[in-house]
Amino acid sequence: MKLKGLVETSFVDWDGKICSVVFTPGCNFKCPFCFNGALVLDPDSVDNVPEQALFDLLEKHKDFLDGVCITGGEPTLSPDLADFCKKIKDKGFLVKLDTNGATPEILKSLIENKLLDFIAMDVKGPWENYSDFAGVPIDGEKIKESVRLIMDSGLDYEFRTTLVPSLHTPDVFEKLVSQIKGAKKYCVQKFRPGFCIDKSLNTDQKQTDEEMNVFAETARKYIDNVKVRGEK
Ligand code: SF4
Repeated sequence: MKLKGLVETSFVDWDGKICSVVFTPGCNFKCPFCFNGALVLDPDSVDNVPEQALFDLLEKHKDFLDGVCITGGEPTLSPDLADFCKKIKDKGFLVKLDTNGATPEILKSLIENKLLDFIAMDVKGPWENYSDFAGVPIDGEKIKESVRLIMDSGLDYEFRTTLVPSLHTPDVFEKLVSQIKGAKKYCVQKFRPGFCIDKSLNTDQKQTDEEMNVFAETARKYIDNVKVRGEK
């Protein structure tokens, strides 16, 4: 599996778990607010991390690591993702997948083959104009299909949104959360200006804690378990 980054120990990427985090190259989205430009636009410019480095680490810290968070980029673009998940699980560790939800057929196969323990999926905007948030033409129906698959999977999961002040107006946000009504868990994440793919967004102001709480209250009209996270 091609990897482009490894965080040895994280307490913040999987609520309630201690995990290592690996980054995969490339993404099929170009979200204007993405702050992972190199990994998305020019993954070859980022050094490779040998897969064995992760497995050595897991062996060394097996006493306190619960699992591995696979993030990107977009991990479902990696052709050997299923084998990689299996290898991690065969060693007795849990697997969390971060995904943009654009490939429901791959998600379905990973779920059916019991290769995932937790899924975190971005829900970026209303289905009908999802492309405005993804930065490329996207069929919102695919995203909707992934949401349905995850909600019906029986797995633990969360949906999450990085809130961008100039994109997520209160009306847009309410439409977004109403689409995932009844979800098990939802997180609103603070926007991080300064490194956005669309440089014009770098002048957007970060939301205040009070503003984030207002968005969270709107989300609680549709979802019981809503969390506010810092910059992501
Ligand atoms: S924010 Fe996520 S889905 Fe969007 S371009 Fe960046 S890595 Fe891809």
